[in-house]
Amino acid sequence: MVPEKDFLYSCTKASLEEWCVKRTFPKFRSDQIFRHIHERLAISLADMNNLPKDLKAALEEDFYAPSSKIDVISGSQDEVEKLRLELFDGEFIEVAVIPMGEKRTLCLSTQVGCPVGCRFCASGANGLVRNLKCAEIIEEFLYGCSRIGGKCDNIVFMGIGEGLLNTSELFPALEKLTGDFGLSQRRITVSTSGYIPGMEKFAALKREYNLAVSLHAPDDATRAKLIPDPLRYSVADILAAADNWSENSGRQYTLEYTLVAGINDSVDHALQLGKLAYRHHAKINLIPYNDTSSSFKRPALRDIERFEEAVASTGARVTRRVEKGKGAAAACGQLRAEKLNQGDK
Ligand code: SAH
Ligand code: SF4
Repeated sequence: MVPEKDFLYSCTKASLEEWCVKRTFPKFRSDQIFRHIHERLAISLADMNNLPKDLKAALEEDFYAPSSKIDVISGSQDEVEKLRLELFDGEFIEVAVIPMGEKRTLCLSTQVGCPVGCRFCASGANGLVRNLKCAEIIEEFLYGCSRIGGKCDNIVFMGIGEGLLNTSELFPALEKLTGDFGLSQRRITVSTSGYIPGMEKFAALKREYNLAVSLHAPDDATRAKLIPDPLRYSVADILAAADNWSENSGRQYTLEYTLVAGINDSVDHALQLGKLAYRHHAKINLIPYNDTSSSFKRPALRDIERFEEAVASTGARVTRRVEKGKGAAAACGQLRAEKLNQGDK
């Protein structure tokens, strides 16, 4: 379905001003609307209290304001809260609000579905439906902030989708988040399954965003058990692309490693992974597999600990993803998958 209107939440100051002139509203109204969105983080016209009725009606006529709505909220605010958003065309995506001490991290989606199709991931199970628009990503951010009651501290693009396959909408969203919304580049992380053409574009931005690379295996044969063709690249080429990004950004990257029992969790895998990470000056983040409907299993806790110790013994820096929000369908794409399985879409 083609959008029928413009999206209010990706507008620029200049485009709002132009719109006000065209619709014969005074120019200062564009400043008010702009401030409502970017300073007060308003996500609906109802939240914009000092605008006259005719202006709101005109905005509603010409724009999606917003284009999405919250469909379901699950989990809890002291663990992970997950929002399922319904988009203008009836598709669904997810946003997670993750507390870390006093800080709040938002986990945002970049696509409806995902074409990479990692075998352990609910997001890729039915392929790609479509890319998200820049405005839809901004709406995710605003809904997340509305649950926090203010601006989030960090953003990770680890929700549904492979963001580096949607750079034409993701990059403008990153610029808007760090420009108009004033978030620091260092507080934003883009996670990729190792899609090299996208990593090259990300490096060419020469920005200080963080990069997380979902490696999941130290060798190509093990990786092939988890990520199918044709969007899987070789470990060596992915690390070379990540190193190039490091040179351009002056920053270290993180290697994410979803631990799956009997597939990539042996001590030998751990030692190889540690050596690779050490050599490439990368940090490692272990993510014990969250049960989706795949045939995979999460390793037992003692195996996870043994793996972590073996990685650390190589001198590499390793952390384990904080386990939160299992009750909130914690793994990426699960809430959307539940909706698809209900068959009422
Ligand atoms: N497409 C990007 C970002 C979204 S996925 C990427 O793959 O990096 C974000 C992270 O969640 C990835 O590291 C992915 O491997 C992990 N993930 C997805 N499903 C998971 C599951 N069921 N259990 C544990 N981690 C999972
Ligand atoms: Fe796509 Fe990332 Fe899920 Fe793989 S893990 S299917 S790349 S969203």
